[in-house]
Amino acid sequence: MSLPPKLARFIGSGMTSQRARDRLMTHLQALGIQSDVVLDTLRFTPRHVFIDEALATHAYDNNALPIGFGQTISQPYIVALMTETLLARGVTDTVLEIGTGCGYQTAILAQLVGQVYTVERIAGLSQNAQRTLSELGLKNIAFHLSDGHWGWAEHAPYQGIIVTAAPCEVPPELLQQLRIGGHMLIPVGQQHSTQQLRCITRHSHTDYHSECIEHVSFVPLREGLA
Ligand code: SAH
Repeated sequence: MSLPPKLARFIGSGMTSQRARDRLMTHLQALGIQSDVVLDTLRFTPRHVFIDEALATHAYDNNALPIGFGQTISQPYIVALMTETLLARGVTDTVLEIGTGCGYQTAILAQLVGQVYTVERIAGLSQNAQRTLSELGLKNIAFHLSDGHWGWAEHAPYQGIIVTAAPCEVPPELLQQLRIGGHMLIPVGQQHSTQQLRCITRHSHTDYHSECIEHVSFVPLREGLA
């Protein structure tokens, strides 16, 4: 009996098979990812359905790949690291994601926390992500087309905020929309120079603690709608 075409596309074969995903998990473990729940979520989430078919054979390399509109799908190691860091700090319910892109990080988060709110400035990317995530059957995701510098005030405050494009400085609105006791992961710095992935914890209305998790390379957080 053959699988329905839709399901077969998710499972993949050859370079997009479960074996390819398992190999990537071994690599991520060697790079220091420790959380079994994060590794298993990546293991069973098909990354190849988020990218163009022509690139599918590279879907389980630990690399960023183009997704159109001059943007990239994040490197699996970075997705795993950001997710693991948020979970390790106890984030489980609401997460605001800035930079939906193709929706891969969104898909990982949606399987691990209660509700994801995701903001993107490029309409074509947001629409593609909505289609892919609904095909995967993920329902606890709300989409918003906007400049993520403003966050998404309507649903604030958030227990977690994850920013997948780099501003030069942390946008003040995002700091305000973080719940007291909540955590924000955000890459900060110029494109093509050293960026720091920072974890910012809000201790009180005015007291924030910031620590550097890793040196990273993200596309820039741009101003306004595309
Ligand atoms: N999270 C994605 C990574 C996408 S790359 C993944 O899992 O692969 C970063 C994304 O941030 C791009 O889609 C880009 O369009 C978006 N972006 C850049 N500046 C933005 C802004 N000001 N507001 C919202 N999204 C922004």
